[in-house]
Amino acid sequence: MSSEKSCLVLGAGIAGVTTAIGLKKLGFGVTLFYKRRPFTAYEGFSEKTKEGLLSSGCSRASRLLEIESVRNANWAEASEKVNYEYVVCRDDLDRALLEDAGSSGVVCVEATVVGGIDCSEARPKVGYKYNGRQFESAADFIVDARGRFTPFKEAYVCGPKSFSILQELEIEAMNEKRTSIDSTQDGWVWQAYVGGKRGYVQFTCDESTAASVNSFEDLLALLSGQNAELWSLKSAKPVKRIVKRDAYSKLHREIINEKMMLVGDAASSIDPLSGNGAFQAMSMSSIAPFVVNTILEGSADEKQTAIDFYKERVRLIFDKFSKVGRDFYRLEQRYESGFWQERQNWPSEVSAGVQTLPRIEKRAVVKVPNIHAQEVVITKSNPMGVCYYGDLEVVALARLCLENTPEQSWNYVDDFCRDRALPSATANSLKHWLVSQNIVSISH
Ligand SMILES: Cc1cc2nc3c(=O)[nH]c(=O)nc-3n(C[C@H](O)[C@H](O)[C@H](O)COP(=O)(O)OP(=O)(O)OC[C@H]3O[C@@H](n4cnc5c(N)ncnc54)[C@H](O)[C@@H]3O)c2cc1C
Repeated sequence: MSSEKSCLVLGAGIAGVTTAIGLKKLGFGVTLFYKRRPFTAYEGFSEKTKEGLLSSGCSRASRLLEIESVRNANWAEASEKVNYEYVVCRDDLDRALLEDAGSSGVVCVEATVVGGIDCSEARPKVGYKYNGRQFESAADFIVDARGRFTPFKEAYVCGPKSFSILQELEIEAMNEKRTSIDSTQDGWVWQAYVGGKRGYVQFTCDESTAASVNSFEDLLALLSGQNAELWSLKSAKPVKRIVKRDAYSKLHREIINEKMMLVGDAASSIDPLSGNGAFQAMSMSSIAPFVVNTILEGSADEKQTAIDFYKERVRLIFDKFSKVGRDFYRLEQRYESGFWQERQNWPSEVSAGVQTLPRIEKRAVVKVPNIHAQEVVITKSNPMGVCYYGDLEVVALARLCLENTPEQSWNYVDDFCRDRALPSATANSLKHWLVSQNIVSISH
């Protein structure tokens, strides 16, 4: 851990702030450059996102995820009350995140970063504009968390070009907060009543459809031809201007080296239909500080392990959430438009070769505050590998089970539980997991 080395974080969204707080906790001097979001957007967050914010030290931000909205889905002819989500205005979230960063000791500077990170000298540097003048800032390590605005635009893996058209609305008061999602001929619509006579509509479509919408009237005309109950638009008045956001999946090719890394949407962003965009951003920022720490403090081998670990994690996270999105698109079989065809077929299923599962392999893992290479169990539900079930170290047990007959394996499992005096509920849960991951077979 270092109290002298400095890190510069670019962008104060969820990924930037949670990474900055994590780095500060490890003892680095952390400065965060941020620019205000140029538009208002509402997004729906899950319980997992709320927990992630809280455990990352963002208590103010997590408190905004308080009142749940009932979420209805009208997807592929089925209509159901799916679940609940926390709908939050991103402006409010950004403000709370900045307060969380400030109260954790991160130095927050309102400055617009210009261009990419220059890694050509010993210390990486960036240009930024502050009070209308241009400056440069160098640090021992720079984290780019500028989201979809990051300028690393060349050479990335890219999904079908979706765009979302957003409009904030003034509508009649309703009894409770609610949201809905509808699949339609040319895309999908997410609507929200967020309280205080405020509504919101977001239509996600392909690039050419989005290009035809330049005003609220255009949006109304487009949506009136879609098969959806447009409850948010009944006697609605637009608030502010219509906004278009790029909403396609992309993975940047160079996401890390010894001087800089990309986190959150800057590294990899997913189609919003996948849900959990914020959660996937935090999947990266929760490991990023340990990766930086290993790069700045570790040996040459350890640095490389950390870099490879981060690259692999980001790719796995991207693959996982891209497929979640594709599988939602595949549920809708009524429409044959290009919009649906393209998204139902991306990403295509690429065989990773036949690899035995479960298996034990040496992989890099987080061992706070660093990244280490060690043996893990790779299973169907844990493609990145696990060392622990709860707080039980299970690699040695899994090895015994995989190398022996089911009868012998169950003896090892029973011994494992007895030696640790596990309560029966914990022992049963462990046994259930071992069976579900095919580490032992059921014939016990
Ligand atoms: C249309 C749409 C709808 C979505 N809906 C949901 C949803 O309902 N639920 C969900 O979980 N996720 C949703 N997402 C995804 C979610 O928005 C992102 O995954 C998440 O915000 C990523 O966080 P981040 O910190 O990486 O980036 P961002 O939140 O984009 O933060 C980037 C920050 O960097 C700042 N910045 C940019 N450029 C500069 C610069 N030059 N200098 C300084 N600062 C800069 C920006 O102002 C911003 O504050 C949606 C995405 C889209 C496109």
